[in-house]
Amino acid sequence: MRMLAAMHQYIGGQRRDAASGKTFDVLDPSTNEVVETVTLAGPDDVDAAVGAAATAFREWSRATPAERSTVLLDAAKLLDGRAEELARLESRQAGKPIRLAREFDVPGTVDNTAFFGTAARRLDGMASAEYSGDHTSSIRREPIGVVGSIAPWNYPLQMAAWKVLPAIAAGDTIVLKPAEITPLTSILFAEAFTEAGAPAGVVNVVTGTGPVAGQHLVGHPDVSMVSFTGSTGVGRRVMAVAAETGKRVHLELGGKAPFVVFDDADLEAAVHGAVAASLINTGQDCTAATRAIVHRSLHDDFVDGVAELMASVRMGPTGDEDTDLGPLSSRGHQAKVSGMVDRARDYAKVVTGGRPPGGELSRGCYYEPTVVSDVPLDSELWCDEVFGPVLAVVAFDDDDEAIRLANDTAFGLAASAWTRDTYRAGRATREIAAGCVWVNDHIPIISEMPHGGYRHSGFGKDMSAYSFDEYTNVKHVMHDTTAVAHKPWHRTIFTLPGEPASPRRPREATG
Ligand code: NAD
Repeated sequence: MRMLAAMHQYIGGQRRDAASGKTFDVLDPSTNEVVETVTLAGPDDVDAAVGAAATAFREWSRATPAERSTVLLDAAKLLDGRAEELARLESRQAGKPIRLAREFDVPGTVDNTAFFGTAARRLDGMASAEYSGDHTSSIRREPIGVVGSIAPWNYPLQMAAWKVLPAIAAGDTIVLKPAEITPLTSILFAEAFTEAGAPAGVVNVVTGTGPVAGQHLVGHPDVSMVSFTGSTGVGRRVMAVAAETGKRVHLELGGKAPFVVFDDADLEAAVHGAVAASLINTGQDCTAATRAIVHRSLHDDFVDGVAELMASVRMGPTGDEDTDLGPLSSRGHQAKVSGMVDRARDYAKVVTGGRPPGGELSRGCYYEPTVVSDVPLDSELWCDEVFGPVLAVVAFDDDDEAIRLANDTAFGLAASAWTRDTYRAGRATREIAAGCVWVNDHIPIISEMPHGGYRHSGFGKDMSAYSFDEYTNVKHVMHDTTAVAHKPWHRTIFTLPGEPASPRRPREATG
């Protein structure tokens, strides 16, 4: 069943056909039926979108903080009014259980929009002061220009929000390229800002593939900054292409989050936490718990508890309120997850799950919740992103080993420590190298706090006021206060006839 006419890319405040006239189908991964046919953007469409964004920048970058704030707050209300439509569409294109879309994706997006509506009025800098003694220094935070953003398929609406909101709150304009398999809600999201009063072209969406539309956007000479969320491999490619035109780059990449259970942990809480944090969004979450590192004294009970609870998780139609676990995003991704678990049978123990379900669900890309124990530390299951409902478990003997195992990864996006001991928790939060460390929980995010990685998980922050550091230029403005022609520091460069070449005072130093 087709749901709505959200089939066009969105450029300059209008839904537009692709210049080539080409289209592609968006599939529902729970059935592999077509949800919608969408315009396939190519380089000409990207050029048009960047042109629209550049034109809109002249007006939007001069809008007052209050004007930008009003647009964002009104858009938040519009999005909230369409919550059910957005949730249903997100559920279908991304294969999310409707409960997750209704209770997490859509409210999170609305809250983020409202947060940036408020934050738009608080782009503070340092206080003005006479640091040199002879000048007043002040800071201006200025928008960068046209931002080119590229988003993944796992949380299409929230990723659109994380990319668009800090950019437009700061006065930038944006061209967003959502993942080709999940473009639909991004189009509705963009339209809400025009409807809320943003000039046409402030938010544009091009619906094309990564290697064509995405790469053209990244290399476009009129794009000032690239913001990318996706896999580490593609992120490196994006950085290389952006380097050719010297652009600022913000990368949010993959993760392989450790979930460390110390011997004093509340075992029941850790078991529930591990099931929720490894199965959220069918494990297709960059912060999902993927590596459980469990004290040997709790290891067997933890594995049994997680396996038992996972067995009670209900897979089913995504529109059904009782469904806990939806499908993976595509047949290709299902094959990747299956392949990694199948290969793990040769070197580890698949405790539960480990295959796609049969029957009616085999029409879709479902995969059983899976626990794998006795996982070697050099195996692909331990080292590489699976991005599916798969939890790998290893045992440790002392705290030093636990921290070492947690950090034994190229990634550094998120982690959690489960303990009742405040000193252990303090050590874990200090020593685990990740952009977020939870204590006795794993997954919650909030608009006020930053999200972003260390190491191969990328750099820069989404959400919160910290994201303005990515989307603004910081300008130092220095006003001379002496009103004299021959300023004190000139003496370092040349002295006037009769002027003594005596040692200068420190505050007259140049540079
Ligand atoms: P992906 O890297 O395959 O694709 C991401 C986006 O990049 C898509 O829009 C795609 O079309 C585009 N793309 C592909 N090739 C490109 C190219 N050559 N030039 C420009 N753009 C190109 O990632 P995915 O499979 O869509 O998403 C899953 C990945 O995203 C996982 O690795 C996950 O960890 C990561 N992720 C990270 C975060 C975070 O905040 N760190 C959040 C969500 C997802």
